[in-house]
Amino acid sequence: MQFSAGRAPRRATRAVTLAHPSNPVVVGGDAPISIQSMTITKTADVEGTLAQVYALAAAGADIVRCTCNRQDAAEGLAQIVPRSPVPIVADVHNNHLMAFAALEAGVACLRLNPGNITDPTKIKDIAREAKDRGVPIRIGVNGGSLDSALYEKHGGKVTPEAMVESAEQELRYFDEVGFDDVKISVKASNVPLMIEAYRQLADVTDHPLHLGVTEAGPPPAGLVKATAGIATLLAEGIGDTIRYSLTADPVEEARAGRVLLEAMGLRERKNVDLIACPSCGRAEIDVIQVAKEAMEAFADRQIPLQIAVMGCVVNGPGEARDADLGIAAGRKKGHLFVRGQNVAVVPEDEMVESLVRWADLIMEEGVDGALGRAESGAAEAAEADRVALLEEQGDDANASGVKVDLIRKTIADH
Ligand code: SF4
Repeated sequence: MQFSAGRAPRRATRAVTLAHPSNPVVVGGDAPISIQSMTITKTADVEGTLAQVYALAAAGADIVRCTCNRQDAAEGLAQIVPRSPVPIVADVHNNHLMAFAALEAGVACLRLNPGNITDPTKIKDIAREAKDRGVPIRIGVNGGSLDSALYEKHGGKVTPEAMVESAEQELRYFDEVGFDDVKISVKASNVPLMIEAYRQLADVTDHPLHLGVTEAGPPPAGLVKATAGIATLLAEGIGDTIRYSLTADPVEEARAGRVLLEAMGLRERKNVDLIACPSCGRAEIDVIQVAKEAMEAFADRQIPLQIAVMGCVVNGPGEARDADLGIAAGRKKGHLFVRGQNVAVVPEDEMVESLVRWADLIMEEGVDGALGRAESGAAEAAEADRVALLEEQGDDANASGVKVDLIRKTIADH
């Protein structure tokens, strides 16, 4: 059964379209929540940047942002945009001329930081040009580079109110030239600050919101921080597009975004959902290593199945009976099961490749087709190994009973 982790109804927003000849992406409205990432190459390096854009798209990014900090970067964009499989957003820094250059290059969207370009005349000029070309702009407020005047006004502190005021001020400039094709972000590296800023912003605008925890850092801490901020808001119905800002290969950002949205039931599953038992005294294999190898084997394969790697055949098939496909170790063998039913027995060192083979089979013939190909004797072999392991390990392979006795003795002795 499919549940949605979105506890609150999704906030109603206007829709903003990022143009692309074959893959236009709508952000906001009732469009699926989109995933973004950013290249870390020099944008002037056209082939290197395009290779990264393709890798990001393959990993699940719907939109890719490239820096446009210099003229050679803008010239690179002119070559990248027509060859990109997804809409390209230009990240404009302090030089407002780069916004015009990026528009000339044909980008699908600009990102402006109100803390970097502060001159209202320049901001309005850019908005006018974007309006004439039908190109949306993201107002990208960043806690770390807040407009210094607002920083002072709010007591020399970065506050949610200051960040929201920065976005509203930029919106007013845009409004003066009749431009409203806008999405907004109010990112901060501090998770509670970021959450509060987005909540306040959601109360005062119906523009779509781009969520992110900026400078989240390297995984795993960066992943946890970004997820804490993004998932909290998504569960409240806030957010239309997301980006993980990790100190890592940006492919990890795109994958993380995809995994989060799939895990929350907010995007259709596209890739493998690999589950694995935590391992315990019964484990017959190095579960961490086998799960890692399976992750690598399935990383770039678009197989929307839940696949389980379980450390023992005693409990594995039962604990993972809801998985589409799984494997449980027992006595130097891997016992493959489809929706809890044993279908094959393979040597222990072929567990991962067998998983890949059976996953392909399920994709081609469906679960029923795969079950129809179950090898005779697979269930009996699994049961025999289960019984043998139970005899070998006993009922209490994790020595829980011994620990319980020790706890009781410790308490009784005091
Ligand atoms: S009982 Fe088996 S499947 Fe469950 S955690 Fe232990 S090794 Fe893994």
